[in-house]
Order: sequence, then C-alpha cells, then structure tokens
Amino acid sequence: MASSPFPDDWQRALVVAAHPDDIEYGAAAAVAVWTAAGKEVHYLLATRGEAGIAGLSPAEAGPLREEEERRSAAVVGVAEVEFLDHRDGVLEPGLPLRRDLAAAIRRHRPDLVVTMYGGDTWTPPEVTPGALNSPDHRALTRSVLDAVADAGNEWIFPDLGETPWSGVQYIAVHAGQPRHVVDVSAVVEVAVASLTEHRRYLAALSDDPVEEQARRQIDMATLTEDGGREVGFGLYWG
Ligand SMILES: [Zn+2]
Repeated sequence: MASSPFPDDWQRALVVAAHPDDIEYGAAAAVAVWTAAGKEVHYLLATRGEAGIAGLSPAEAGPLREEEERRSAAVVGVAEVEFLDHRDGVLEPGLPLRRDLAAAIRRHRPDLVVTMYGGDTWTPPEVTPGALNSPDHRALTRSVLDAVADAGNEWIFPDLGETPWSGVQYIAVHAGQPRHVVDVSAVVEVAVASLTEHRRYLAALSDDPVEEQARRQIDMATLTEDGGREVGFGLYWG
C-alpha cells in the first residue's frame, strides 16, 4: 500500500479521543516516538469511558478508567490528560461537543491535532458483513474535524473566553487514508506497556492475561507485511 512519511515540522500535538483506551490501540506508539523526539503531546478525552465495563457501574468505572488512561499516557511521555464531561455511549456530533473541543483547541494551541478512526465500519466496504465502529467514535471524529475550524474563527463560539487559534497545521486521523506513517519499531514494548495499563478494562474483555492481550492488539495495529512496525494516519491541512 502506498504511503508517505508523517510530517515532522510541528512541535505541539493534541490527541483527541472518545474513550480511555482508544489512543492506546496503536496511535500511542506514534506518540511514544514523538515524545522521545522532544515533541509536546497532550491528550483530550471526550468521556471517561464509564459505560465501558460490563458488570461495573458507571460511578465506579469512570474514575477507574480515568486513572488507567493517565497511567497509559505517562508510559508514552504524556503528562497532561484532560477529560470533557460528555457521557460515554451517547456522544452526539453536535454543537455542544464542537464547542467543548474548540475551547480545548484554543487553550492548547496545537500545531497538530490527532484523532481516532471515525468511519462507519472497521472493515473495508467489500468485506461483508462488516464490523461496525461505535457511534461515539463516529461522533467524535466528525466533531474534531469541525472543531479545528471553529477554534480558528473568532465569530464561532465567541463567548468561550479563549483567544481563537488558527495555528493547526495538520489534522491526523489514526488508521485513515491515504497513509502517512510513523516508524514505531523502536517503541513496540512501550506501546504494549501503555495499553497494558488498561488492566481492569482488558481483564473484563477476556480471560487471557492483560499483557498478552495488549501485545496481540499492538501486533495487529503495527505489524507490516514485511515484518516492519508502523502506525498510519490520514492527513488533512488544519
Ligand atoms: Zn472507544
């Protein structure tokens, strides 16, 4: 598959996802490469993923998953993780979400905004039946793409009390097309360790040891046909 290298002419990134764990299924490997190179990366989560663990109430799961996300972030060199207070499972791609995202982009003033895959299915259209992507993921990605423009326009959400920010050079969508790749071969173990921090979440998904699950997922997300390791992003101008 044709691909280009991911651009390097940026310094500050804001990585935006719907749930704790979303970033760790591949994108965090690229984050590890970036922070090791001295770039500054912050995370922004729209929800606390409180509806994500079967058998555990949202009141218990929310704080637990927030803590797991902070640990995961720390493993790849990200010290700042911010949570918006949207409800897990019922995220809507509307103005309230765009408003909160635009406010965060104005506050963080990133050169690069990274978000997660928001297509309807995880499988190519010719594969049927396809595996559906979650409504939260679709809502989040669409809203992030819109909020970058909102953040730069002084007449949109003028009452936020933040200076408009139109300095976003690139928007990157994890697993999007066409691929712009980051070589992550040097940070595979870091990426596995980062996903492994979602211990309680992973333990609820399978009886397999959490580190084994994490390794399998990182292999799926990063291994190339020739045995290399890379993470790909679709890229837009900000
Ligand atoms: Zn998710």
